[in-house]
Amino acid sequence: SQPLQFAVFGHPIAHSLSPQIHQAFARQFGITLEYRAIDAAPDAFAGAVKHFFNEDHARGANVTLPHKSAAFALADERTQAATRAGTANVLTRLADGRLSAHNTDGHALVRDLTERHDLDLRGHDALLLGAGGASRAVAWSLFEAGVQTLTIVNRSPEAADTLADAIGEPARVHTRYWEDLANIGSFDLIVNATSAGTLGQSLTLPMSLAGSRAACYDLAYGKSAFAFLAWARAAGARYAYDGLGMLVEQAADAFELWHGQRPGTEPVYQSLRAQGS
Ligand code: NDP
Repeated sequence: SQPLQFAVFGHPIAHSLSPQIHQAFARQFGITLEYRAIDAAPDAFAGAVKHFFNEDHARGANVTLPHKSAAFALADERTQAATRAGTANVLTRLADGRLSAHNTDGHALVRDLTERHDLDLRGHDALLLGAGGASRAVAWSLFEAGVQTLTIVNRSPEAADTLADAIGEPARVHTRYWEDLANIGSFDLIVNATSAGTLGQSLTLPMSLAGSRAACYDLAYGKSAFAFLAWARAAGARYAYDGLGMLVEQAADAFELWHGQRPGTEPVYQSLRAQGS
């Protein structure tokens, strides 16, 4: 019988690690599947998704930049995690043929921080840089994982305010202006969820932000994370992590949703590191 079909949609998508990650997970269970990377320009995305899911054996798709908002919009139903973020990185075809949108970015970050990197987030004062789709996903998850306070700072302050208001816990979740970063002391956890590194742009961050026990985390990985991680080390942070672990964990979340089994992520993470990711 024909294998079940999966895909990742993005633009560009040629260098996506998702096909390799999903095939490695599938091997852990002896599952044979097809997993393709599909490049779709923004105006072709909805049509490409429809075409893919018209195949009898198509079950699920991952979605990456720049299609996460469009994926959320075109779905027939949405999980709470997707609704909170307003974006989706997973589309699943339900038994009745309808498409369900889900967002695993927040869960994946918390899992990477707490399980792979062994951080106890409870009681941490956290700073979140950015208020885009990924920030909206991770803000809720950091809050629910028990950070003491969450300060959200975004280049365009309105988006940060909207996000903090949506969480609605003013005693613990609040916003500041980017210009105030030099005057707001230090944090235990600093998460860079801006796309500056991916876009090859620099962030101006004062050294005073990172306390000596700070963990700094960039959602980006590879070259895109270099500048932020170099800043973190120069600022004296205790830990500086990139988002490769989050990438593997969000893939595992999708795999578990589609196949009902949780793959082991550590060997896959280690093998990507060994390949230089
Ligand atoms: P969005 O485009 O939705 O949001 C981008 C955010 O970055 C906005 O807050 C934007 O601010 C801010 N920003 C962009 N350029 C700059 C700059 N030069 N200076 C300051 N702020 C800037 O992107 P996403 O939220 O989807 O993704 C963010 C990053 O996270 C990307 O690098 C992505 O690759 C990474 N990511 C990694 C994942 C993983 O699994 N490891 C999963 C998801 C995302 P403004 O509102 O002012 O424009």
